[in-house]
Amino acid sequence: MAQTLGIYIHIPFCVRKCRYCDFLSAPSDEETRQRYTDSLVREIRSWADVPGLPRVDTVFIGGGTPSVMDGKLLARIMEAVRETFRVREDAEISMEMNPGACEDSVYDFISGYLNRVSIGLQSSVGGELRFLGRIHSKDDFLRTYRRVRRCGLRNVNIDLMSGIPWQTVATWRDTLNFAAGVGPEHISAYSLIVEEGTEFGRMKARGQLTLPDEETEREMYYTTLERLNFFGFSRYEISNYARPGFECRHNVRYWVRKPYLGFGLGAASFYGHRRWRNTGDLERYLGVDFGADPGNWIPAAEEITPLSRQDEMEEFMFLGLRMMRGVSGERFQDAFGVSLESVYRNPLKRLERDGLISRGAGNVRLTARGIDVSNRVLAEFLLDDKEAPPSQGGIAKM
Ligand code: SF4
Repeated sequence: MAQTLGIYIHIPFCVRKCRYCDFLSAPSDEETRQRYTDSLVREIRSWADVPGLPRVDTVFIGGGTPSVMDGKLLARIMEAVRETFRVREDAEISMEMNPGACEDSVYDFISGYLNRVSIGLQSSVGGELRFLGRIHSKDDFLRTYRRVRRCGLRNVNIDLMSGIPWQTVATWRDTLNFAAGVGPEHISAYSLIVEEGTEFGRMKARGQLTLPDEETEREMYYTTLERLNFFGFSRYEISNYARPGFECRHNVRYWVRKPYLGFGLGAASFYGHRRWRNTGDLERYLGVDFGADPGNWIPAAEEITPLSRQDEMEEFMFLGLRMMRGVSGERFQDAFGVSLESVYRNPLKRLERDGLISRGAGNVRLTARGIDVSNRVLAEFLLDDKEAPPSQGGIAKM
C-alpha cells in the first residue's frame, strides 16, 4: 500500500487555562493570533520544495482551542496546506473545538474545509465543569454540537474525562449517557492525570484535592465499557470508542507509526526515521525565518531524535498494543525484515502464560487483564542492546 502522510497543526491558544491543563496553550490577543497564523503559513509553505513527500490523507488541527481563532485565519492555514501538499480528496480533515469558544466565522470554516470535529465536553455535570475550570456549560455544548451538525458534519467526536475530583460513578454514568445519547460517531474517554505545574498539581501537593479512589476508578472504567457498548460504540484503542467505520484515522496513524509532520508551537513530527519537536517558546517560534536556510526544513525544531532499529521496534510494540486489534506480525516482518516471534520470543511467552496478551490471526493484543496493567506489559518490550541509529535519507540539514 502506498505510503501516506498526516499533517498536525497546533493552535496554542485558549480562552483561559483549565485547572488541570498541562498542554501548550495560553490566552492570546488578536494581534498574536494574526502573527502566529503568518508564521504557521510560512512554516507550512517552506515544505513546498521537499522532494518525495507522500500524499496527505489526514489533517488534524489541535490545541489549545483552535476554535478561538477567526475562521478566516483557519482558512488561510488550510489553504496553505492544500497548496503545499497533495491532499487526497477523501482525506480526513479534523479540528478540535470547545463549547463557548467559537465565533460564526469558525462555523463557516467548518462547513467549507472540515469533515470531522472533536468537541471537548469533559463532563455533563455543571459542578464538575466549574471545578475543572472549563468555560462552558452542558447547554453551551449542546448549542455547539447542533450547530456543527447543521454545518453538515457527519463525523463528530466528544471528549470526556473521568477521575475528576469528587466525581462519583453515578455522575460519570450520567456524563456517558448524555454524551452517547446525543449521537456522536466517536467518544474519547480519558482519565484525569494530575500533572505537576498545573493548578490541580499544586492543590494535590497541598492535600486539597480529593480524587476518586482506586476502586471507584475501576468501577468508572467498567462503566465506560458497559455504557458505550450499550450505545453501539466499539473500543478500538485504550481510551477511544467509535461506531463502525468512524475510528479517527489521524490518531490511528500515531499508533501504527505512519509518518506525520507537525506545524506550529511545540508540534511533534515523525518522518524519515526521526522524531522532532518544534520549540515551545512562542516568541522564538514567531521569530523563526522559515526558508532562510535552504535545505533545512525544520528550523523551528529543538529536539531531534534519530531512531535506531531497536527504538522503532519498541515503538511499534508500545504504540501498536494500545489498539484493541493489537500489532500485526506481518507488519512487523515487513517493517524490520525479521519476525516478531524471533525478536520478542521470551516476553511473548511470559505475557501469554500470565494471560496478559493473546495471540491469534497473526496479531498480538492485550487482554482485558493486560490493559489493566498495560505499563507492566509494555515494559516487557524494551530491548537491551541499543545499536546506533541508521544513516538517514536527508530530510533536513542538522
Ligand atoms: S481547553 Fe484544553 S488546551 Fe485549553 S486550557 Fe483547557 S484543557 Fe488546556
